[in-house]
Amino acid sequence: MRQMARDYYADLGVDRAASTEDIKRAFRRLARDSHPDANPGDPDAEARFRRVAEAYEVLSDPGRRNAYDRGETIDLTDLFAGMGGLDDLIRSVFGDGGFFGSAPRTMRGRDVLVAVDVDLSVAAFGGDTEVRFQAHVTCDVCGGQGSAPGTSAVTCPTCGGSGSVRVARRGLLGTMMSVAACSTCSGQGTVVTDPCKNCHGLGAVAGEHSVRVEIPAGVPSGTRLRLTGRGESAGRRGGPGDLHVEVRIRSHPDFEREGDDLLYLLRVGIAEAALGVKVDVPLLEGGSEKLEVPPGTQPGTVFRLPGLGTAHLGRRGRGDLRVYTEVEVPTNLSVEEEESLRAFAQLRGESPQKASRRRRR
Ligand SMILES: [Zn+2]
Ligand SMILES: [Zn+2]
Repeated sequence: MRQMARDYYADLGVDRAASTEDIKRAFRRLARDSHPDANPGDPDAEARFRRVAEAYEVLSDPGRRNAYDRGETIDLTDLFAGMGGLDDLIRSVFGDGGFFGSAPRTMRGRDVLVAVDVDLSVAAFGGDTEVRFQAHVTCDVCGGQGSAPGTSAVTCPTCGGSGSVRVARRGLLGTMMSVAACSTCSGQGTVVTDPCKNCHGLGAVAGEHSVRVEIPAGVPSGTRLRLTGRGESAGRRGGPGDLHVEVRIRSHPDFEREGDDLLYLLRVGIAEAALGVKVDVPLLEGGSEKLEVPPGTQPGTVFRLPGLGTAHLGRRGRGDLRVYTEVEVPTNLSVEEEESLRAFAQLRGESPQKASRRRRR
């Protein structure tokens, strides 16, 4: 028997009206932070963890909690009695695997990251592409089972098929039971007695994956698409990993992308800029759109063609096509061109230098 001297509610940081769920949640959080295994080298961790565990044991049990609330003494001798006491407590709160997650019954194949280069039009409007990479593939001789055709794996004699064994671990809290993967079967629960010759019992062999990837319309460059279960095969040891595809967009000779807008550089002559011109602006998806450049258009003028940009990712509609106007100043004038330009300058009251140096010998 032990006289209670502490405030269990304060130990868990909950108030006296806390529900069982509140108490459980508080304990999970505190136990995670104060567990000795999570605080190597901290001599106070064990004391903190015991305090939290004790508070939880009392407050999570309605009978004990009532007694505690009435100010009665609580018999704590049975709380941590037996080797599995604390272990069972942890298991009841954190699930079957105990504090640090369950023992791996199965292993997953590795996740694979592959970069894929796509054209701007594919990124803008969607499309298919294929990615290839080297990684283990499921053995097609045994279908990933690891056993020679006509045979099958048998129940593991060590763990009886559960894939896990309970092991006693000596730690700061004394001996704790924990669950580990069975070493005989590597957590599979079965053992291969007659291994497949092709994969030596693994169920997977080195190989090349070829995966068709759908590129969503409007995807920005650098996006990583996740294809669940399309990564490396783990053979009989577990499910395949995931495939992550990083989308990189190739540059386009005519268009640049800015968000969901496309930018196009339109070059017009000085006469066209001054007098206006009708042009056909090419579109990324093919075809063209008529654009009227009005008289007196200045260099750098931007015309916006709504709805002719890239698709919006995951929703309807498209961005705009922004046409940036560049006015080209002519070079290498012929004699005739120079004469008309000088005549024009005179009319405008401009006074260009007398003769271009390259014509003066
Ligand atoms: Zn095989
Ligand atoms: Zn086993």
